[in-house]
Amino acid sequence: MPADNIAKIRERIAAAAERSGRDPGDVRLVAVSKTVGTDLIRQAVEAGQRVFGENRVQEALEKIAEIRAPGLEWHMIGRLQRNKAKFVAGTFSLVHSVDSAELAEELQKHAEKKGIVQRILVEVKLSEEETKGGVGADDLEALLGLITGLRNLRLEGLMTVPPFFPDPEAARPYFRRLREMRDRLQDRGFSLPELSMGMSGDFEAAVEEGATLVRVGSAIFGERVY
Ligand SMILES: *Cc1c(COP(=O)(O)O)cnc(C)c1O
Repeated sequence: MPADNIAKIRERIAAAAERSGRDPGDVRLVAVSKTVGTDLIRQAVEAGQRVFGENRVQEALEKIAEIRAPGLEWHMIGRLQRNKAKFVAGTFSLVHSVDSAELAEELQKHAEKKGIVQRILVEVKLSEEETKGGVGADDLEALLGLITGLRNLRLEGLMTVPPFFPDPEAARPYFRRLREMRDRLQDRGFSLPELSMGMSGDFEAAVEEGATLVRVGSAIFGERVY
């Protein structure tokens, strides 16, 4: 049941934060509800969960229209095509997956039209996997610089998806690298308080390395059926 799973995951997040000398209140749980039906999502809402992550725009729009509760936040965590930007700006509280100047400019255009400021993270690619989204480490600072000049976007931090490893400890170096990258960029003047990293199999390592947003799906809702 989502409610029991959420309670256990919150405890594990708090324990991981304490182990690393962090305040558990500085880590938010994003319940990744892609492919999950509205009945299960409602159970999570009833259990007090307020932040949900989706990776497909159309699927998310249907759920957003259907599920209403005070304080609900929907986050876009998946790869985003530019032609979907108009549906995303202003609909999602936070977009985790901005990875190109073109996408940032498209989001800017629609945020400006709607008269809103869109909060975003920049997704960083730390591995060589061709199928993954994210801007390469070498191009990151230039992209952040460009985004800083876009008045209707508010850059809040970085996100990454490491390769899948059965052993969560194998993902830890990626989490550490993202945090170190963030720290260096902050020294260079960027404000990047948020680090979105860690999923069902490795969120505790991510919290120990500094995650402020963990994106947990199957550990809450069960294995996904596509
Ligand atoms: C699906 C997904 C998750 C959640 O994965 P689980 O292993 O089910 O927790 C997290 N982040 C992104 C970007 C995803 O697409």
